[in-house]
Amino acid sequence: MKALVKSRAEPGIWLQDAPSPTPGTNEVLIKIEKTGICGTDLHIYNWDDWAQRNIQTPRIIGHEFVGRIVELGHGVEGYQVGDRVSGEGHITCGICRNCRAGKRHLCNKAIGIGGGRDGAFAEYLVMPATNLWPIHDDISSDLAAILDPFGNAIHCALSFDVIGEDVLITGAGPIGILAASACRFIGARHIVITDINDTRLQLAEKMGASKTVNVSLSSIEDTMQELQMSNGFDVGLEMSGNPAAFNSLIKNMYHGGHIALLGFLPPSTEISWDEIIFKGLHLKGVYGREMYETWYKMSQLLRSGLDINPIITHRFVINDYEEAFRVVHDGNCGKVILEWE
Ligand SMILES: [Zn+2]
Repeated sequence: MKALVKSRAEPGIWLQDAPSPTPGTNEVLIKIEKTGICGTDLHIYNWDDWAQRNIQTPRIIGHEFVGRIVELGHGVEGYQVGDRVSGEGHITCGICRNCRAGKRHLCNKAIGIGGGRDGAFAEYLVMPATNLWPIHDDISSDLAAILDPFGNAIHCALSFDVIGEDVLITGAGPIGILAASACRFIGARHIVITDINDTRLQLAEKMGASKTVNVSLSSIEDTMQELQMSNGFDVGLEMSGNPAAFNSLIKNMYHGGHIALLGFLPPSTEISWDEIIFKGLHLKGVYGREMYETWYKMSQLLRSGLDINPIITHRFVINDYEEAFRVVHDGNCGKVILEWE
């Protein structure tokens, strides 16, 4: 089969032939239709420090996908050949304390597809049936291909009560924009989002942000004045991985506020601990999606009319993957889809 493989420990990814996988007991074989490119895939492409420490070659990359089941392994129940599915890319152990408590997103032995094991940027993918998420007819395949990053946004947006609350989002990457869109739909009051990329800020405004702040030109404080906000933000979503952005978020939080941390902050990040302590702020690390409440909420929010279609800005056939990665690298885009059929 055709697959995008990180076959050498150097920058680049290569479209090459790989053996088709075979489903084992309780696994299914999926024929991939569409995949989404994640920032993680770009790290792997660029072979930066993080990728060198975390990825072993050769590895088929990718974890955002939709496809159809073409073969059921022994013992699989509840699915049929032809079913349209996406799936949770974190394969959990199933036997640790958290897994057995139904908190599988907190499994400490989880392995990610497209990182710790072969991924979805291929014509075929094998996955445990327990990780599948069936796609309702109401949901398009384009959107089904990006449920993984949308799930990061929904996991953050639903971590705290945002109804009638003022929300500050630092980082207008696709997940930050999707979080803005979700917060608008579920009833937040002001949603302010920051970045330094005007293309992405414009997309965020189109998708539900009240105000956008290009922090190279203006400040969060000025925006709060424009909005006649006197106290600070009730909920903060850190989605940039940028230490300066994180500190600006802490500084502009209201006392007792809640912060979700999704962006990977570098180890050297200094934090204004005084602000955290004196304001009584709550910090929550968010990784992945809750299994499978986030998946359920995503499906039903989309079916209730939350429109995230504008986040998909580019589509490429798989043979043009180099161009697709260039677009993601340049950053003047939302989600970029690779089509395998
Ligand atoms: Zn576990």
